[in-house]
Amino acid sequence: MWNLKRLEAENYREHLDVAFPVGAIPEQVSEAEKDAVLLLYEKYVEKLGRPSVELTGEGARAGLLTAVHDAYNLVQDGRRLEKLRAALKHLAQLCPYCGFGQVEELDHVLQRVHYKLFSILPLNLVPCCGACNRGKRRVPSANTGEQQVHVYLEDVSAFDFLRADANIDAVTGGLLVKYSVVQSEGMSDDLYARLCHHLVEFRLHERYQKQVNLYLGGLEYPIASSFEKMGANGLKEFLDGMVATLIRREGANDWRTALMRGLAECPKFYEGGFRTALGLQPVDGAAD
Ligand SMILES: [Zn+2]
Repeated sequence: MWNLKRLEAENYREHLDVAFPVGAIPEQVSEAEKDAVLLLYEKYVEKLGRPSVELTGEGARAGLLTAVHDAYNLVQDGRRLEKLRAALKHLAQLCPYCGFGQVEELDHVLQRVHYKLFSILPLNLVPCCGACNRGKRRVPSANTGEQQVHVYLEDVSAFDFLRADANIDAVTGGLLVKYSVVQSEGMSDDLYARLCHHLVEFRLHERYQKQVNLYLGGLEYPIASSFEKMGANGLKEFLDGMVATLIRREGANDWRTALMRGLAECPKFYEGGFRTALGLQPVDGAAD
């Protein structure tokens, strides 16, 4: 999650030509206007897709704004730009915003209603899950600390920032996991604030809980058997091994990597608390 590789062949002019064929009568968008839109695309990249008045198309002809805004309808299945939709959906196996949802929709990084001229710009379209898309704010925030981290244009892979602190509830024996972002070395205050806000905007503090339970449910056997065969050290070793594997396969900032790392740093869990945490019978509990 967090980053996606952009489309390899991005022929923006071609997309505009498909949407607004040359010589069409009546002409919706002139060739000169397409040039202007392409220039604004360059501005978008320069600004890393962050909200700014310059990108709103202020001063552009109203008919142009409406035509490009409406061109997104052509990206739907069965319409002229459906190939673009399919190619974008292929970029991600799972939603890059949450890291667990199935890719179902395309999100406009800069909301289409407010930034009409980026309606079909591939860099402004992120394949994501329905819950993330619906949960996202409708109006771009003027507060820079609340602006979205761009999955294509801002590479955050050099940082190691996602954490999941794990604990066992003293009363219920249940597992408590709290996700957070740490400001790793070299990370700007701006990026730190926006990564923190990402967890809030997409309600990940709440939504991760269910995923944690599902994920750990699937690991019940290796967790319990590691402990039974080799005790707390054996389970700790299993958890450390999972962390190393997940870092390699999913990256350091994947929610599963953070979770397993949190559990590997929680003695209460690997010294036996995993039983109640996973809803198993406590080893010395009454089995009647
Ligand atoms: Zn999602």
